[in-house]
Amino acid sequence: MVALIFSRPDGQWFDFPPMQMAAASGNHLTIPSKSELIELPEGATLTMMPLAAPIGMDQETGQFLALDENPYKKRSEPVYAVAALLPQGFTRTYMPAATTAEQTLPLLGYTAVGSHKGKLYVAAAATDEHQRWAPRHYNSAGLPQLIAARRREFPGNRIIEQLAHCALEYGCFTAQNIFYRRWEGGIPVSPACNAACLCCISEQPEGGAGSPQQRIGFCPEAQEIAAVAIAHLQQAEQPIISFGQGCEGEPSLAYTQIAAAIRLIRGATERGLININTNAGATEAVRELLEAGMDSFRVSLFSPIADEYMAYHQPRDYAFADVLRSLRLMRERGRQVSLNLLTYPGFTDDRRRLDALCGLVQEMGIRQIQLRNLNCDPSLMQDFCAASEPLGMLRFIYELQKRLPEVRLGNYSRDLR
Ligand code: SF4
Repeated sequence: MVALIFSRPDGQWFDFPPMQMAAASGNHLTIPSKSELIELPEGATLTMMPLAAPIGMDQETGQFLALDENPYKKRSEPVYAVAALLPQGFTRTYMPAATTAEQTLPLLGYTAVGSHKGKLYVAAAATDEHQRWAPRHYNSAGLPQLIAARRREFPGNRIIEQLAHCALEYGCFTAQNIFYRRWEGGIPVSPACNAACLCCISEQPEGGAGSPQQRIGFCPEAQEIAAVAIAHLQQAEQPIISFGQGCEGEPSLAYTQIAAAIRLIRGATERGLININTNAGATEAVRELLEAGMDSFRVSLFSPIADEYMAYHQPRDYAFADVLRSLRLMRERGRQVSLNLLTYPGFTDDRRRLDALCGLVQEMGIRQIQLRNLNCDPSLMQDFCAASEPLGMLRFIYELQKRLPEVRLGNYSRDLR
């Protein structure tokens, strides 16, 4: 039996065996089965969910109960739910079971966690090789020197300054890869966006959850972009350059600068993959990027059902039909296309959405589905989950792979050419 764990206000956590760990699938409470739990993976961290009480199953009554007082303390002390935050390579199968917090929670990838025989277990599945994104490869002691070296190499380049901030302040891995000069490196280009996604991590409305990252305040010149990109693509191991990072808006809105940069880059090197993480709503911008030679498109998607897409992504000047038009253009031009599927247990794993997703992937010839644990305050998802009949995330992943055997499931971009 996996026991509930709770946190004191100071963040210290304890297990409480009289209550079994419970979990949430959308608005439903459940007890995860053994196959839905794995040991807490290396690189995962724990976080307290402030002002949200943990819910577990009382071992005596078999009832789901909220634990809001510290059972180990004589005098009253409030306790809070604990969640795990997973590293890349793992897909969450359940949300933590907790009461609705009395305040908006930070936008994080909350995952159910419990304790058994002194070990922590999380509701997750390994869905990709995660060595490359293992935290031990990042935030090394030598990083500041590498940043200083790149600053000397690219004097006055605003992208390098932005990435230095992201690497040191946010610990961003794709920013750090530009300094380590390896794998997938991020190049942010756009302060603006044509959507207002409910859980946008770079911009949140006044009084909202507050965005974990601050959006960049400038649009770089093509020469600034090309300089950083060429060095990375020429010298890095298995190089990928990705536009569309957590610290910016919609990159395709800067298509003029990106297109000019791609022509400069390909004038200097044919090595590596040039990728864009986009909402693909601006079809004419997508057409310009295809003309310029963008190799790969990763399109973010909360739901393959139009009205749900519109309700979550809240586009300012496009509709879901425009995203479909963009995907058709990418397929016609034979570019590498992947979906960045924002997953939320109890919403994503619904039969209707699974059918719609498989239809979309087959129609558009999509090569990869990246499963992305949605960073959100669970209370924002209650209405979305109201009409859901969850299959369970493990069953959803299994069915997806069975119905789309030619499609690669995973958690991050790679060169599939
Ligand atoms: S498309 Fe990206 S930047 Fe724009 S609102 Fe959505 S998450 Fe934020």
